[in-house]
Amino acid sequence: MKTRHILQAWGKILAGRFPSLSIEVTRECPLSCPGCYAYGNDHLGGALVLRGVRDFKGQELIDGILKIVEAYRPLHVSLVGGEPLVRHRELTALLPLLEARNIHTQVVTSAVRPIPDEWREHRNLNVAVSIDGLQPEHDARRKPATYTHILKHIAGHRITVHCTITRQMTERPGYLREFLDFWSPRPEVRRIWFSLFTPQKGETSYEILPRQVRAGVLDELGVLKNEYPKLDLAEAVLRVYRNPPRNPDACLFARTTLPISADLKTIVTPCQFGGTPDCSQCGCFASAALGAVLRHRLPLGLSLGTLYEASCAVGDWMKSLRRRKAAEGRSGRGAGEQRSRGADG
Ligand code: SF4
Ligand code: SF4
Repeated sequence: MKTRHILQAWGKILAGRFPSLSIEVTRECPLSCPGCYAYGNDHLGGALVLRGVRDFKGQELIDGILKIVEAYRPLHVSLVGGEPLVRHRELTALLPLLEARNIHTQVVTSAVRPIPDEWREHRNLNVAVSIDGLQPEHDARRKPATYTHILKHIAGHRITVHCTITRQMTERPGYLREFLDFWSPRPEVRRIWFSLFTPQKGETSYEILPRQVRAGVLDELGVLKNEYPKLDLAEAVLRVYRNPPRNPDACLFARTTLPISADLKTIVTPCQFGGTPDCSQCGCFASAALGAVLRHRLPLGLSLGTLYEASCAVGDWMKSLRRRKAAEGRSGRGAGEQRSRGADG
């Protein structure tokens, strides 16, 4: 992350706004991956599930997302799913509008269908393709987004490979190296990110990395990052994986990113995983990358985290000031105008 981006995000925090949004653009997905958190029963808190929310298509979806963007004025927007490419026409129309607002955009996709040609033009776009393991394991977990389809659908693009490491991938020595050997030389691959499977509290699925296994994987990644330049993994990020945030309040990612579900109004809490994620086993790359920034020490020995806490206090004060002003405005004008949900960002 560049200093300019930190300063811009800091300005947002001071103003009591979220620098980053994560929007589930659709409830639909043609895949049914084991361990998918988005379709978990508790993802939206229990009363609602992603497949049950109302979602949008066409101009309604484009306008709905732009309305949220105007309300929150983020620096970064992640478009996730379900499968965002289910709404590829809408996204193709939306991406230039976000770029015109100088917003960095990320689309997280399985590449189950071709990535539109027009997307190649966008400087501020990162397309992160989820590829979970080598072909036999990936294809079994993520069909119809098989290796064959992915290779066809990313041709001519520059993508980020995002692999979530599960226990299954740790059972054969050399597995991660083979994965890097396959994806690193490809011209379509700009960089490679590894996350670790993050369970919900009390979850017992086989995907979970036992503590010893997790420690071993992190040691191995520490070696591999020096051999594969496209593996984007700083030592500071590995340190956060070894010692993740204690809880969502200590997680910079959760506190600076607002996840919104496909009805464009339900807020996913406490972070994009929803439900009650086990922070002590968090393997989210975005959380670890931001956590590394937070733990960075400034020349006077002060950590950015300390400054961040102070900034949040100022931000909370700014938020309450805006709410008070809005309430005064409403009582002055009468009760006719209702705030749209929480769009005080
Ligand atoms: S592609 Fe993503 S949203 Fe769809 S089932 Fe798999 S993990 Fe879930
Ligand atoms: S991203 Fe990870 S550390 Fe942050 S709140 Fe979610 S589970 Fe916890």
